[in-house]
Amino acid sequence: MANPDQELSCPVCSDACSLLDVVDFNKSCEEARGKFLGLAGIPVYYALCGKCGFCFAPELAAWPLEKFEEEIYNDQYVNVDPDYVDARPRANAGNLIAMFGDRAHSIRHLDYGGGSGLLAGLLRESGWQSVSYDPFVDRSMSVEQIGEFDLVTAFEVFEHVPDVQGLMGNLRSLLAPNGLVVFSTLLSDGNLQPRQRISWWYASPRNGHISLFSRSSLAILAQQYGFRFGSFSDGFHVLFAKVPPWADHLISVK
Ligand SMILES: [Zn+2]
Repeated sequence: MANPDQELSCPVCSDACSLLDVVDFNKSCEEARGKFLGLAGIPVYYALCGKCGFCFAPELAAWPLEKFEEEIYNDQYVNVDPDYVDARPRANAGNLIAMFGDRAHSIRHLDYGGGSGLLAGLLRESGWQSVSYDPFVDRSMSVEQIGEFDLVTAFEVFEHVPDVQGLMGNLRSLLAPNGLVVFSTLLSDGNLQPRQRISWWYASPRNGHISLFSRSSLAILAQQYGFRFGSFSDGFHVLFAKVPPWADHLISVK
């Protein structure tokens, strides 16, 4: 049970945080489509950093991987995220091919948090040098063993990660010099505010959405790891140190 007097510090900027709200564990993204699971009777608290706007669920962030598997990424997960098995990887593969075209054939690509590896497989069929790594699936593999990649994609990963500093460290070590991280997560700007109850559909514990990023929190994280940060949209972003020639049609740096 969360204690409102507990001292919380922001995992992104280290500033002091306070609790923002509590939601039922069964709150899911499918509620946006009118589907309700019924209440689990388990309270999940979210804390919000007043400085950078990062929002997180402190109790769930401390769970071991096994507990996430039992409680969230279990047989029922497909009911709250029906697109993750097939539709999303297919759509993402199509988007990446459209973005990079033949330029991607010469680069090494890693799909971080790629689950079953469908996205990487589809890209290989299109001539990409793609591999998949998922901390939940490839447990026996350490990040250091995988190598370095020119392009790292992380679709619907950031909001699921309990340790955002660990994630950034992994991305940093997986990225070749002059590489690019392309990732998706929906920005919380305008959706979460201090002293305002949570009504945002994306803040859903049952989907494993335990880390919710503002634009400012992503910019701070990027800076901490020597990256520049930019966005193609509210949900699609990029991290890089220097724009590689194979991506200069997508990113212009002022
Ligand atoms: Zn912060």
